Amino acid sequence: MSDLSIVSVETTILDVPLVRPHKFATTSMDAQPILLVGVTTGGGVTGYGEGVVPGGPWWGGESVETMQAVVERYLVPVLLGRRVDEITGILADIERVVAGARFAKAAVDVALHDAWARCLDVPVHTLLGGAFRSSVDVTWALGSAPVDEIIAEAREKIENRKHFSFKLKMGALDPAEDTERVLRVTEALAGQAGVRVDINARWDRLTALRHLPWLADGGVQLIEQPTPGEQLEVLAELNALLPIPVMADESVHTPHDALEVARRGAADVLAVKTTKCGGLRRSREVVAVARAAGLACHGATSIEGPIGTAASIHFACAEPGIDFGTELFGPLLFSEELLQEPLRYNDGQVHLPTGPGLGVELNMDAVKRWTRN
Ligand SMILES: [Mg+2]
Repeated sequence: MSDLSIVSVETTILDVPLVRPHKFATTSMDAQPILLVGVTTGGGVTGYGEGVVPGGPWWGGESVETMQAVVERYLVPVLLGRRVDEITGILADIERVVAGARFAKAAVDVALHDAWARCLDVPVHTLLGGAFRSSVDVTWALGSAPVDEIIAEAREKIENRKHFSFKLKMGALDPAEDTERVLRVTEALAGQAGVRVDINARWDRLTALRHLPWLADGGVQLIEQPTPGEQLEVLAELNALLPIPVMADESVHTPHDALEVARRGAADVLAVKTTKCGGLRRSREVVAVARAAGLACHGATSIEGPIGTAASIHFACAEPGIDFGTELFGPLLFSEELLQEPLRYNDGQVHLPTGPGLGVELNMDAVKRWTRN
């Protein structure tokens, strides 16, 4: 086998344009910044991982700029000279040097898995115990356009058999107006497709108590993180009140967070992002806690590019605990293709790429074109 020792680590910030602005409760983005981390072995094999947060530091405090600084200054010295198959030991040593910073650590964890799998000439899912399925369902995030345009966008996706489940972001508008808007979309799609909402922790307890029952009565299928992440007692109160599932996202980063959500009955479903949780290994620990507690897990996204998305697909296809679908649509929001062969989406699903490592190859001309100067 080729030399597995890590001889270099490169980081590159990309700004990849989107097909339309993607709106969150507190920000909107026209391009998604991505930190590309490449780990190269003495045998000349390079594995890639992505450091990606949803649009900027508003979500969890990290950004591509902070991730680049953490990786270059603190993680690279831990990596150099180690073997790419020493992931357990490397991650343990990284914990001694850097607390938190899970999005940055995820980029390194995925790059190590990709490089190791390529050295072995096997897919990444083999390192996770093997895939037990070859595709997963993908929910589509509808934009923040006027209601008629949103309904038209959803109908187009259904007619072309692209997606059969939709998510709407809430929290940027007046709550009553926001609720009215979502109910109109839900009613228009009733019987054709499910609608779920993500409030991104923007509502306080009273606002949530006032408006969430209307959303549940109006046919919304699932409520994602209505209230602040740390207020688990509020989330538990809402979960007990509502007849539909509540999903925790901002409330769950670590296996211990998952344990607390389970203990308090704060949610029925956990949003598991391989980026947010600190990589493939840590995500697996979060899912293990959820499974033990009888909670479902959703394969969620930070709007990763094709590398981060491929990593999450390998994870979801090798992890039976991801049993509540996915929203691994990131690359479909990008107006530029970064891969030589795009990921395959059809019939409401995304397919597990084949081939060594993550099974995807970057188009280096495209990477160069969108590299930040
Ligand atoms: Mg969310």
